[in-house]
Amino acid sequence: MSIQRLGRKWGRLKLPKLGWVRFRWSRSPKGTVRSVTVSRDGAYWYVSILCEDGQTTPRAHERSDSAVGIDRGVVVAVATSDGDLFNRTFHTPKEHECERRLRRRLSRQHKGSANRARTQAALSKLTGRVRARRADFAARTARVLCGQNAVVVLEKLHTTNMTRSAKGTVDAPGTHVRQKAGLNRAILARGWHGFKLAVVNAARRTGTQIVEVNPAYTSQTCHPCGHVAPENRESPSVFRCVVCGYRAHADVNAARNTRARGWTSPSG
Ligand SMILES: [Zn+2]
Repeated sequence: MSIQRLGRKWGRLKLPKLGWVRFRWSRSPKGTVRSVTVSRDGAYWYVSILCEDGQTTPRAHERSDSAVGIDRGVVVAVATSDGDLFNRTFHTPKEHECERRLRRRLSRQHKGSANRARTQAALSKLTGRVRARRADFAARTARVLCGQNAVVVLEKLHTTNMTRSAKGTVDAPGTHVRQKAGLNRAILARGWHGFKLAVVNAARRTGTQIVEVNPAYTSQTCHPCGHVAPENRESPSVFRCVVCGYRAHADVNAARNTRARGWTSPSG
């Protein structure tokens, strides 16, 4: 495979059948190139270069006996049992408005028309940008978590579990609401899946072990005393145990329960 750097920003590589293709030099490949994949996301084309850098997964994490539980938060994107909250805005309010407008326009345009294609392209560009932010957030967060912990405990996603919680959250009748709830759920699930992949990826460099546990009732269970009740949730963000009075960030309390399910401290 021939890859050449043309300047500070540009490089080119020779692809079978296509010949020389210029690309934006965003990272330098290290080691020997194994394969090159060209893909399209939204309005842009990407080339990803798979290299063999000779790095292997460490047999043990350098901080043994460290573990963290992760909660796919209701309030923030990712909450940890250490009390850290990781979040960022994926859509700006302006982008939300723009996406809504584009989708509305798209639904009124005729299939196959040039105008529709133009709207579709604008929409792909926007959703691609949001997707890239999400992926970046997941990769950064995963790198921090795996760097600090020998064990990362995640909640396992069950389809049945998701349907049950959907029934609980959809309070207004009507198919439209149900459809929308389904869509939101799918988006959330996809985000979580992407995050899990990022953790698996980061763990290869640090030797972190990943444990998945059943997430049922982690958000309703009081971490110190173990009392389970929906009333323990004072609000979406505040957990307060009705028995012992323990008060914490709801997502952090859930993350602590998640950690306890997947990991036992050696010190007891
Ligand atoms: Zn309690």
